[in-house]
Amino acid sequence: AVGLLATGSIAACGDNDDSDTGSGSGTSATGKVGVILPDTKSSARWATADVKYLKAAFDAAGVTADIQNAQGDKTQFQTIADGMISSGVKVLVIVNLDSGTGKAVLDKAKAAGIATIDYDRLTLNGGADYYVSFDNVKVGELQGQGLVDCLTANKAVKPVVAELNGSPTDNNATLFAQGYNSVLDPKYADGTFVKGPNQDVPDWDNAQAGTIFEQMLTSNKSIKGVLAANDGLGNAAISVLKKNKLNGQVPVTGQDATVQGLQNILAGDQCMTVYKAIKKEADAASELAIAIAKGQKPTSATGKVTDPESKKDVASVLLTPQSITKANVKDVVADGFVTKDELCTADF
Ligand code: BGC
Repeated sequence: AVGLLATGSIAACGDNDDSDTGSGSGTSATGKVGVILPDTKSSARWATADVKYLKAAFDAAGVTADIQNAQGDKTQFQTIADGMISSGVKVLVIVNLDSGTGKAVLDKAKAAGIATIDYDRLTLNGGADYYVSFDNVKVGELQGQGLVDCLTANKAVKPVVAELNGSPTDNNATLFAQGYNSVLDPKYADGTFVKGPNQDVPDWDNAQAGTIFEQMLTSNKSIKGVLAANDGLGNAAISVLKKNKLNGQVPVTGQDATVQGLQNILAGDQCMTVYKAIKKEADAASELAIAIAKGQKPTSATGKVTDPESKKDVASVLLTPQSITKANVKDVVADGFVTKDELCTADF
């Protein structure tokens, strides 16, 4: 049985995590690393998990890392990059806000002889030396299959499915959509599901997602399932469903296994999320950066991804995502990504 003490509010669940963005301490012989994270609003991960695990990895290796967050501001992203480049970092790790500004930063870094790593999001035509992420098409497939499973369990007949896609300027959003549409399109084609409204959410903006979904539901009251590309978008849809007393009846997907997403799952309002072990991703990126900072040639990026624009291969590490439903929320806790206390549950 699930004893949910707080609904939706992370703050109500008490202390989450510090989001220390300070520099680590390092030896002077090795080079410095600069990391630029994108924002703190499009997903809880950027304010909590990524910075925590990256900092821990660099600290453990004794490598100085300047980890900053651009707060969703492209000008600030470039200003931070300029500062890191002129401070003499040896490696620059970025999560781009879009491929255009990402590429401008990577170009400057390369011109200054700095090694570059695309973290989580591939910068199209960016030419980074390395790319570390998850198999993002697989993430989308898990979302599509999760929604199919929930609608099947609901015995939904020809359900209308709405899709809330991620930011159109995030290559990952394209890959997620490729994954979930590979599962949903055949269902639309054979008439099992009905294709409902489908919209991109600029910058993964959660507030905008709420407005978009409200309009979707107003114009299409028969929506019976929502493919939301991450937990933030999913929560926006759930809030609208709550207002309409439809939460729990309309399955909603997500991604990131955020505290809020997991709480929504335990409350029965969210169908599933996708757990991406951020520690593994941060460890993989920092392993590359640390090797380069120490003047070694990294050997861990054994995969390769072809940049769809430049058609060039990027040496990559791609990790495997995991589908999470009410039945296996405990796996995320067991992996140390969230605590039972954060989920405010007595038992699950
Ligand atoms: C990341 C997701 C995240 C989204 C919004 C994507 O690029 O892969 O984990 O939810 O951006 O920040």
